[in-house]
Amino acid sequence: MDKPILDIKNLVVEYRTDDGVVQALNGLDLTIMPGETHGLVGETGAGKTTAGLGVLRLIASPPGVVVDGTIILDGKDVQQTTEKDMESMRGYDVSMIFQDPMTSLNPVMTVQDQIAEVYELHENISHDKAIELTHAMLELVGIPAERGNEFPHQFSGGMKQRVVIAIALAGNPKLLIADEPTTALDVTIQAQVLDMMKQLKKEYNMAMLMITHDLGIVADICDRVSVIYAGRIVEQGSLEDIFDRTRHPYTEGLFNSLPNLTDRQQKLKPIKGLMPDPSNLPSGCTFHPRCNYVMDICSKENPPRVYRGESHYAECHLYNEENIMKGGVIERD
Ligand code: SF4
Repeated sequence: MDKPILDIKNLVVEYRTDDGVVQALNGLDLTIMPGETHGLVGETGAGKTTAGLGVLRLIASPPGVVVDGTIILDGKDVQQTTEKDMESMRGYDVSMIFQDPMTSLNPVMTVQDQIAEVYELHENISHDKAIELTHAMLELVGIPAERGNEFPHQFSGGMKQRVVIAIALAGNPKLLIADEPTTALDVTIQAQVLDMMKQLKKEYNMAMLMITHDLGIVADICDRVSVIYAGRIVEQGSLEDIFDRTRHPYTEGLFNSLPNLTDRQQKLKPIKGLMPDPSNLPSGCTFHPRCNYVMDICSKENPPRVYRGESHYAECHLYNEENIMKGGVIERD
């Protein structure tokens, strides 16, 4: 059987500030197989971006501290890798694209030079050869090669994000981490960029971690899904498990807060309350102050991880041996 391209176990990350300790990741487990597209979905502040930065060992320290856990990327222990080896892994074993393309682009370099730089470093080839490969890559991401001589400010938001994707792909990474890559774009452009990413993923056969708060994007592109709440995966399974056999009340809440397209009269049902303060997480199940199914035990004991089948789990007391939900799923409206 294939080995995972990414295997994160029990990752605990804290941000230690003058105002206290912020618990960003709280025992995160995440495994991605080669070629898989894995959705990491949850609200803002759940720890999604910290997880992505951890894989590239880019968590700013201080204030960030990896307190516990391991991150194995393509067989290498990220925590134990030298900075020099890490530099050569970034962009080649793993690339990350961010929500705002301008944070990743150099405003005073032409876009073709920025892409060509990756080829030159990665493949040790001449600038002319790198420009040739760059022009082919620009065409691949839907930008006419002759626009390569332009600067980032001459491109629209969608085009800039295509350039960022081209830079990420030029290193031919085994894993692409996409952190809300379409959130800053108009809806129609979002759809175009997502379609392009799907196509390219097939072509390059790379694994992808799609970090998003948008279940529509998850449905469109992902094979497996992890639902993150307060720095911990509370439910994980195949796309069908999560969408059709929802087990965790937080996952149910995410679905219930979506507009119902078939019944426009139906009101949105947002999850009550707010994400907890990560410097003062609730005891037991961190979701208990917001949960519609809360029981006495929920604030007292950490919920167990209960599997339904081999690869679908939820961390919730509802599925304890003695509980009525044993073996069941939540019936959604
Ligand atoms: Fe709700 Fe309790 Fe399950 Fe947490 S453990 S999600 S509070 S039922």
